[in-house]
Amino acid sequence: MSDVVRAVERGATTVKGVIDATGLSRLKVERAIRALEKQKLLVRNDAGFQTPAALSAAPRRECGSCTSCCTLLEVEAVGTSVNEWCKHCEAGKGCTIYDDRPQMCRSFSCAWLQGHLGDEWFPETSGLVVHFSQDAVNVQVDSNCPDRWQEEPYFSKLREWSLNGIRRTGNPGYATLIAVGYDKFLLLGRTVVPDPTLFGTAFIPVTSDTFRYWKARSPEHLQRLNDRIAEIHRIRQEFGRCSIPDDDEPYPPYRPALLKLSNIPHADSA
Ligand code: SF4
Ligand code: SF4
Repeated sequence: MSDVVRAVERGATTVKGVIDATGLSRLKVERAIRALEKQKLLVRNDAGFQTPAALSAAPRRECGSCTSCCTLLEVEAVGTSVNEWCKHCEAGKGCTIYDDRPQMCRSFSCAWLQGHLGDEWFPETSGLVVHFSQDAVNVQVDSNCPDRWQEEPYFSKLREWSLNGIRRTGNPGYATLIAVGYDKFLLLGRTVVPDPTLFGTAFIPVTSDTFRYWKARSPEHLQRLNDRIAEIHRIRQEFGRCSIPDDDEPYPPYRPALLKLSNIPHADSA
C-alpha cells in the first residue's frame, strides 16, 4: 500500500496513473486504494486521488474571470470546436447556463485549477489550458499566442513532463500533446514532433532530452519501427554502439543492416 501512497504523492491521480507509476496489477492497485480510502489515507475528489496532506496544502483556486476552457477547447455537448466561443459563455461573466451546463463541463477541471501548476499557468493570462487524460498531458494553446508553449517557464515544465512520461519503464507511459488550434504536436523531451499520426510515434534517444523519431503509418509499421529500435538497443548493449538509420521503412531482419551501417567488425558472422 505504501507504493500506492508514494505514487499518489508523486502526482498519480488515477488508477492507471498509479499502475503506471508502481508497475502493480490493476487488481492490487484497486484493492490498495479501497483499503487506503477506508483508512482515510487517500481521498478521491474531482482532481482524482490525493493524500489528505496534499489536499490541505493545495492552493484553493477558483476560475474567477477565466473562461479559457469555454473558448479554447472543443465542447461536443454544446457543439463548439477548438478556439470557438461557446454560445453560453459571456465575457467577464462566465457560463450563462451554469446550473444546467452539460456533464462534461461539470466534470472538467484544468490542471491549474486542480493546483498542479504555479500561478504563472493561470489559463486566462498564460493562454495555455492544461488538462490530464488517461494517457496524456494535453495542452491547448490560445491561437492568439501560438508560440507561448515554447517560451519559458512553460517549455521546461512541458519537457519535464514529457521525459517523465517516456521514462516509465515497463509501462506505456503517457504522451505530452500540444494543440494550437487544429495543429498538433507531440513533445519528446526537447524534440517537437509535428502532426503525430494516430498510429503512434517510434523514437530513440539521441541525447538525454532529444530524440530521433519516425511517425507510423499503420499499426504494422509501428511494430516494425519498434522492432528495429529494440534491435538497436540490443546491438548497443552487445557492441557499445549502433548507428541510427535515416530510413523510415524497415523490414526484418534488422540486425544485418544495422551492423553494416554501424561498421561493426565481423558483422556478417555476428
Ligand atoms: S481553464 Fe481552468 S481556470 Fe479557466 S475556466 Fe477553465 S477550469 Fe477554470
Ligand atoms: S456550457 Fe457553460 S461551462 Fe460549458 S463550455 Fe459553454 S460556457 Fe463553458
